[in-house]
Amino acid sequence: MKWRGRQQSSNIEDRRGQGGGGLGGRMGGSPFGRGGGGIRIPTGGRSGGGIGGVIGIVVILGIIWFATGQNPIDILTGGSSGVPTQSAAPSSSSLPTSGQEDDLRDFVGVVVKETEDLWTEVFAASNQQYPAPAVVLFTGQVNTACGGADARTGPFYCPEDRKVYIDLSFYDQLRDQFGAPGDFAQAYVLAHEVGHHIQNITGVLPEFNRRRQSMSQTDANAYSIRIELQADCYAGVWANYAGQQNIVEQGDFEEALNAADQIGDDTLQKRMQGFAVPKTFNHGTSAQRKTWFERGYQSGNPSDCDTFSGNV
Ligand SMILES: [Zn+2]
Repeated sequence: MKWRGRQQSSNIEDRRGQGGGGLGGRMGGSPFGRGGGGIRIPTGGRSGGGIGGVIGIVVILGIIWFATGQNPIDILTGGSSGVPTQSAAPSSSSLPTSGQEDDLRDFVGVVVKETEDLWTEVFAASNQQYPAPAVVLFTGQVNTACGGADARTGPFYCPEDRKVYIDLSFYDQLRDQFGAPGDFAQAYVLAHEVGHHIQNITGVLPEFNRRRQSMSQTDANAYSIRIELQADCYAGVWANYAGQQNIVEQGDFEEALNAADQIGDDTLQKRMQGFAVPKTFNHGTSAQRKTWFERGYQSGNPSDCDTFSGNV
């Protein structure tokens, strides 16, 4: 991706090295239990409060990911972060900012700016202003309006404060643990999270949070898959836009497609535990994720990202 020298977003909040305060006391509310055993979306009532009782899809990376098969790119809607405090955060995440990370920060700044340009155009077409999200860079732990999180959470979007959070060490994990190297794979992750922001503005996420309270786990998982696939489709729309800006290089699209492939629920679960349990899927299979990313990419039009009608 030809990103160097391009304008960067002014909505990057660099909180690296600040820490995030304690996550203590959350252990009891962890939706993941200790023994692992499948993916679950936490439901309301368990948190004993939280933010309006709204609890979302939580994704934990690294140690937790290996224990539970959580998907690495997600929405964190509050109440209970599910981040245990007992195991130490990866040491790399608490190291001082390296030169390479500054490079990454610039990269993130450019990609976020490109998402802003795209969605500003899309919103303007219907006479609306695009309220761009802030993108928070952090190391170690971070406090959000959706609760505390740490580096193992992976990148996520918090609808309560309308911010995307990412610990840049995730990109090492994306390459090394998930087998998805490449800058365009990294861009896809950001564009996916921005996609959740779009869903928050358009009412898709609020609707889900309203309805999930009365849903069975199975229905909530199916609903979640449609949400995630739409975010993938929006990421594809962004990739199309990036192509129009002439910043896409040969092999870039394949990098993003490979990332979508590697983080499909079936692929993740098979890698982790040797087999997949379809009823626990909540992000979509590799095939579904690739299909919807590609659909957005081919079309370039977000209105072709309706994952809520018909089969996905
Ligand atoms: Zn997601």
